[in-house]
Formats: sequence, structure tokens, C-alpha cells
Amino acid sequence: MTHHLWMEEEHHAFGDSVRRFLEDEFQPNRDQWKKDGLVPKDFWKKAGEIGILGATIPEEHGGLGLSRHFDAVSFLEQAKIGDSGWGFSVHNIATHYITAFGTEQQKAKWLPDLASGKKVAAIAMTEPGTGSDLQAVKTSAVKDGNNYLINGSKTFITNGGSADLIVLVAKTDPSSRSKGVSLIMIETEGLEGFAVGRRLDKMGMKRNDTAELSFQDVRVPQTNLLGLEEGQGFYQLMRQLPWERLILAYSALGAAQCALNTTLDYVRERKAFGQRIMDFQNTRFKLAEAATKIEILAAFVDQCLAELDQGKLTAEKAAMAKWWSTDVQCEIVDNCLQLHGGYGYMNEYLISELYTDARVQKIYGGTNEIMKELIARSLDVD
Ligand SMILES: Cc1cc2nc3c(=O)[nH]c(=O)nc-3n(C[C@H](O)[C@H](O)[C@H](O)COP(=O)(O)OP(=O)(O)OC[C@H]3O[C@@H](n4cnc5c(N)ncnc54)[C@H](O)[C@@H]3O)c2cc1C
Repeated sequence: MTHHLWMEEEHHAFGDSVRRFLEDEFQPNRDQWKKDGLVPKDFWKKAGEIGILGATIPEEHGGLGLSRHFDAVSFLEQAKIGDSGWGFSVHNIATHYITAFGTEQQKAKWLPDLASGKKVAAIAMTEPGTGSDLQAVKTSAVKDGNNYLINGSKTFITNGGSADLIVLVAKTDPSSRSKGVSLIMIETEGLEGFAVGRRLDKMGMKRNDTAELSFQDVRVPQTNLLGLEEGQGFYQLMRQLPWERLILAYSALGAAQCALNTTLDYVRERKAFGQRIMDFQNTRFKLAEAATKIEILAAFVDQCLAELDQGKLTAEKAAMAKWWSTDVQCEIVDNCLQLHGGYGYMNEYLISELYTDARVQKIYGGTNEIMKELIARSLDVD
């Protein structure tokens, strides 16, 4: 099992409580919630009670006021049980936007309910017409008296079906590209003109109610602009992206570990040609490669986290972590599934869920091609 040098007693204790919570409250329900396509709100509240949702939220706003390392611990624990459907990482990312850029009134208004799980959060960037090219979003938020009048549609939104609070990426100046982007907070309850469209039928991440959202002449007060100034949205997104990419990298690491563990259990039991699958040299080599890559991945991601803490993590290094970790995750999961033979293709085996869940990691959070583009751009300077 990988060791993270930054993990001290308090991180292990927090990890133990997250693990116990997931064992007691998540695992008995995982099949049902997969069928439902949703993790119920009650579970969010229980997660809030043990501090998973508010670990990094300041204490004066209902959180535990801990460092982002504690979030990393939770993401690793979730990945280690082979789930990526419960969208609490997106929820936590949304809270980070408010903590980092919200006014004192905004923090006081929204953070306590996000920490307790009373409210579930989402982030809505992607639109039917644009994903990678974020500056091209068309959703508009135009001033109208004391309100913003919002029109547009979003798609592929994690937690979209159940979100009470959405960080919406919209253009307050539709004639500009990056400088026209602002983040507007949307409180969905009873909001006229707002509608959740289709809950999308996905290959994996079955427990998440990923959805389409539409905004038709939706009015929200101008005080819902995140921060004080319009046109800051693109900058705010760029500031948060390195950590978001590391979160994906930690999830990739945890999922790869989960794949290795479940495969070890399988190949030690299953026999062919009178011997354990574990005893074939091909199996031993594939698992040795997986274990090695997991160690290298952990060392790299931990290094990135240390640099992030010191304010030194560059966008290109975070991009390296995102593309490489998710590529390695997909490769390890694929190799592990192969070692299960036909059983690996059956839904009752965890490895099949790990396989279908892994694929999207190369797509969301900025596609891996966009990550390589970012890295290449940093190389192509005089
Ligand atoms: C399950 C799931 C959950 C998601 N959750 C969220 C969410 O919570 N919030 C949210 O806002 N979005 C979410 N997304 C959307 C996700 O971030 C986008 O799908 C992603 O950014 C890619 O955008 P796109 O689908 O429009 O692809 P496109 O941008 O159309 O890209 C298509 C292909 O072209 C490539 N490409 C595009 N531009 C370039 C370029 N300049 N150079 C080289 N190749 C390029 C891409 O890499 C990709 O291979 C989610 C998606 C999925 C599938």
C-alpha cells in the first residue's frame, strides 16, 4: 500500500473515520443507488455530519478549517472503494470557489449549508456547443435592474439533477471572450425559468445524476455575482484549476489502487491449467508494473500537492498530473480487467465498474489533449 509522506496521525485518523463511514453508510446501498442513478440527500447530510463536506471550510462558516490534504484523504478513500458516482468532489470544489472568491456575506450565506450537506453544489461550465473552449460559452447574464437576467443551457453537469446551489459560468459581457466571463451563484429552489433537463444515461458513474440544465429568463439578484467585480470568472476558474486537476489525479491514484487490490484477490483464488492465475508470469509482471506505476504516480502527485501548498504549482505541472494519472489509471484498470477473464466483463465484479468509470477521467476536468496543449505551450517559449 502506498505511503504518503505528508500523511500524519491526524490524516490517518480522518481517513479511518471516512473509511468507516463509507463502509457503514455507502457500501450497503451502492447497488441500489446505482439503479436509482442518484445518491440521496440524506447521505449528503450524514457526510456533512462527519466533516467530509466541510473539512476545508473555515470554522466560522461551519466547517472544520483543515488543509486541503484532508480533502485529498477523502478523495482517496472514496476511490479506494471503487466509487466515483457520489459527486462530493465537485461539491467540495464548488465550496472552494466561495471560500476563495466570495464576499463575507456570500460565505456566511452559503458555506454553512454546504458544510452540513443541507445543500448540494454543482459547477456548470460546459454547454451543448462548447466544452474545451470555455471562453466561447454562450450562457448570458445581463444586468436588469438589481438582477441578472440569465439565458442559456448547460450539459453534462455532475450533481445537476439534485444541486441546490450552482456555480454558473456565464457571460456578463457576451461580446468578449475571457474578459466577459463571470461566475454567478444560482439557488435552484423554486427558481422560475430554471429547469433540470434529461438525467444523462452514461457509460459509468451511474450513481451520479449528471444532467442538462436550462435557463430561460431566470432572474437572480446581482449580489449573486461571485466576488465583487464582473469579468473575473475566467481568472477565478484558472486559479482553482490546478487543485481541481490534482483532485482528479488523487482519484485516479485511489482507483488504480482499488483495481490492483480487487485483482489480487481474484487472481489468488482463480485457477487455470492447474495453477493460480497469480502464478502465471504474465500476471505477476502486469501486477508488478501496476504496483510500480501506482508508487510513481503517488510520488508525483504528492510532489505537486507540496508545490501547490507553497504556491509554486504551475498550470502545466498540474496538467501533467491530470493527463498522466488518468492515462495510467485507464491502463491499469484495463490490464486488471483482462486478468479477470470473462468475469471482468460482468457487472457483478467491481473491476467492471472501475473500467466504465475510469474512461471519463481522460475527458472531464479538461480533456487530456487540452492538458498536453497546455504543457506544450509552456515548452514553446524563447
Ligand atoms: C460524466 C461527465 C461529467 C461531467 N461533469 C461536468 C461538470 O460537472 N461541469 C461541467 O461544466 N462539465 C462537466 N463535464 C463536461 C466535460 O468537462 C467536457 O465534456 C470536456 O471539457 C470536453 O468538452 P466537450 O465534451 O465539449 O468536447 P470537445 O471540446 O468538443 O472536444 C472533442 C474532442 O476534441 C478535442 N479537442 C478540442 N479542442 C482541442 C484542441 N484545441 N486541441 C486538440 N484537441 C482538441 C478534445 O480533446 C476531444 O477529444 C462532464 C462530462 C462528463 C462526460
